[in-house]
Amino acid sequence: MVTRIDHLTVYDGRGGKEQEASLLFDESGILATGRGVREAEAETVIDGTGLACTPGWVQSHSHIALDGLPNMQAQIARDNTESAVMASAARNCLRCLKSGVVAVRDMGTAFDVSIRLRDVINEGRLLGPRIYAPGRVICMTGGHGADFGIEADGPHEARKAARGQIKRGADLIKIMATGGGQSRGMKAGVPQLNFEEIRAIAEEAQHAGVPTAAHAQGKEGVMNCLRAGVESIEHGVTLDEEQIELMVKQGTFFCPTMAGLWYVIQKGVAAGIPPYVVEKCKRQAETHFSGFEKAYRAGVRILAGTDAGIPFTYQDDLATEFVLMRQHGMPVREIITAATYTPAQALGVDQKTGSIEAGKWADLTLMEGDPEEDLEAFRRVRMVYKGGQLVYSSEKGRDWFLPVL
Ligand SMILES: [Zn+2]
Repeated sequence: MVTRIDHLTVYDGRGGKEQEASLLFDESGILATGRGVREAEAETVIDGTGLACTPGWVQSHSHIALDGLPNMQAQIARDNTESAVMASAARNCLRCLKSGVVAVRDMGTAFDVSIRLRDVINEGRLLGPRIYAPGRVICMTGGHGADFGIEADGPHEARKAARGQIKRGADLIKIMATGGGQSRGMKAGVPQLNFEEIRAIAEEAQHAGVPTAAHAQGKEGVMNCLRAGVESIEHGVTLDEEQIELMVKQGTFFCPTMAGLWYVIQKGVAAGIPPYVVEKCKRQAETHFSGFEKAYRAGVRILAGTDAGIPFTYQDDLATEFVLMRQHGMPVREIITAATYTPAQALGVDQKTGSIEAGKWADLTLMEGDPEEDLEAFRRVRMVYKGGQLVYSSEKGRDWFLPVL
């Protein structure tokens, strides 16, 4: 069905902005955009006065099966079956759509659930965003993520784990290079999987054409990943000139997940977050926000992601990451790029999506107001299209539109 929306403010995802624009699209993709499109024939015509439109947002760091409960480890322990994990993931998919997120770069789920979730959504059996799935993370024995990941020690096991995830259909490989803030009984910034192990995983992923992303907090772990050719650094936390220089040189992506850290510190122990988590996050905050500012100014390719699923970082709240990015020096148009075009590049799908251009998928997020004038517009999502189909509207009096089977 051909849809035309008129009188829109269109952010194209690559730094461009046009007011009073029209957008023409159907299930095959975006057909045309710009002021000249207003006369084009369409079955549905919508007056977009007062609305701004961007390419559909990509949440670049989510654990789609986790709900943001105060004690994340307790949810992982409770959801110890595949069906329990899938139930949370399915519900969170709806939350994503409602908040403008049309694609999720999952960063690890138990039982490889994100891979199956992707498939049932693509088959039209479940309403949800596009899922880019690593399935389980790869970590060292007893390391960060060991309670829901694959434990691998030595380059041989690490290589086998990577090959296994590729065989299971992973879209990307998630590597745990250091300890983390959420795990009990370990320092956050210490190296875990070592250089040889990370390199073995990265090699296999490169051979298969699958991108790699590494949880890396602390310099040694980040440098191990960069030298091994990992394509994206998640968190970072203690970025300095040396790390940033190498990231710029190699074109490494960086997903700072500032919202996750910010929420843990804001809510604290009083809200039920375990004290060891709060303490580690407070320490990380001393260097993390300034590290992000340096990385952004140096030209590192930034991805917008929150670490959705950790305490109080809900799946429908990518907007808080946008607000923090703005507070730490990023202009609104670059924030939009970090949530659209740059993640499409990181996922290797920028030829098909990530910007508003004729021929690309009609994945669109429409919000009330102009975010360049009012940042809160990012929280007022009014319509969401995925593949040219309306998957959420705040205006119809009902929230959900099930896809036609
Ligand atoms: Zn994470």
